[in-house]
Amino acid sequence: MALARKYYDFAGILMSKLWLKNNFVNVGDLVVSDFLNQITRRKFIVTAGVSASAVLLKGCLGNPPETTGNSAKSGVQAVANISAEQKPETTKVKLGYIPIVESAPLIIALEKGFFAKYGMSDVEISKQASWGSARDNVEIGSAGGGIDGGQWQMPMPHLITEGKITKGNKPIPMYVLAQLVTHGNAIAIANKHLGKGISLKLDAAKPLFAQLKSSTPFTAAFTFPHVNQDLWIRYWLAASGIDPDTDVKLLTVPAAQTVANMKTGTMDAFSTGDPWPFRLVNDKIGFMAALTAEIWKNHPEEYFAMRGDWVDQNPKATKALLKGIMEAQQWLDNFDNRQEAAEILAVKKYFGLSSPEILAKPFQGQYDMGDGRKIDDKSMAAYYWKDAKGSVSYPYQSHDLWFITENVRWGFLPKDYITNGATKAKELIKKVNREDIWKEAAKELGIPAADIPTSTSRGVEEFFDGVKFDPENPEAYLKSLKLKKASI
Ligand code: CA
Repeated sequence: MALARKYYDFAGILMSKLWLKNNFVNVGDLVVSDFLNQITRRKFIVTAGVSASAVLLKGCLGNPPETTGNSAKSGVQAVANISAEQKPETTKVKLGYIPIVESAPLIIALEKGFFAKYGMSDVEISKQASWGSARDNVEIGSAGGGIDGGQWQMPMPHLITEGKITKGNKPIPMYVLAQLVTHGNAIAIANKHLGKGISLKLDAAKPLFAQLKSSTPFTAAFTFPHVNQDLWIRYWLAASGIDPDTDVKLLTVPAAQTVANMKTGTMDAFSTGDPWPFRLVNDKIGFMAALTAEIWKNHPEEYFAMRGDWVDQNPKATKALLKGIMEAQQWLDNFDNRQEAAEILAVKKYFGLSSPEILAKPFQGQYDMGDGRKIDDKSMAAYYWKDAKGSVSYPYQSHDLWFITENVRWGFLPKDYITNGATKAKELIKKVNREDIWKEAAKELGIPAADIPTSTSRGVEEFFDGVKFDPENPEAYLKSLKLKKASI
């Protein structure tokens, strides 16, 4: 027994240390937090200890490779009649995902047999412990035990291509192939700030921010720096005249840790994808100040992107994957399928939710914001294939340009990406954004011409504060913004 206890203590110490050190717990890791809760409830009995350490050690090897493949599946869909010239070069690929609604097209394409339908019968999807792990895993590729591509925040594929966030700043070319989703994200606030004016607009909360700045600044967390969630928080604050660099404290925090910090009162806000913010409301820990759908209706969210070398070597397999994803996106946009989608995603190996209802409600556009505000509006739900502005799946280059422009705005990228007619940004986007492959796949799939955009730009975009982004002139957009770090 003493030996067992010793083993147990060792496992516990190892777990707590490495867990934090490796950023092991991250966004959407409901499974991990649930798992921890279970372990706590069991008071670390020996049997749980063995499984805990087994899971932990698996995680210590870099990333818990909890993968799900379709090789053993019966195949819900009939296999499409694939012509000789469309036959994929390989049936095998490994794609990473984070368990938030953005990943649904990948999981549904696998589970409903859409990948297999187009000849991709050996797709493995691998749950990533964090965005940092996803980046590390795509750096080594599946040949090195990593991944060939998958789900990304923006502009991660561009930053990886430029070697801005890779080890030793090594450039690793990536291709953006499709947008996965619009909406489905929110900014969550700790309950202690209820009734203090923190909402989509922050005018009424400005005295609170000023007061906090003089003691402990308002602290907000995102899941990876310089990408979507960081940019949503920054846009939201700056729109109300709160400088995200000097008036508040922003940092990268794993979600499970954020919740603990929110409970103890040291974390004020964070941003991520569903079902996490909604679950905070459900657990009465926090409320939602804003849905991203309120900040920018029909905004670009996360994307499907792959290593460029994989795509270059397997152009037909790439299109087969895209066809599977496109079918999954269309299936997901049928609201009659959303209960089933929630049930597929909720299971332990994917999101690990206690109930599919935590997903099913936001999937119908029903958000209890937790501050008395209730939204019941299908147009606020996540969309995967089409929204009020047209194609969701098609990766508009004008949206890549906005993400890069915001990186310049906050000093994450030098301003020469955007000055001189944004030539540097446009050259990078032309290299990374392969909307041409999306179009080829859509045509082969028989998508009606009306659903295939004819321009790489969606045109002028408008945000909740009335600011407009004209992709023809991103420098003018930057100049028009009062709060920014770049001297433009
Ligand atoms: Ca997101």
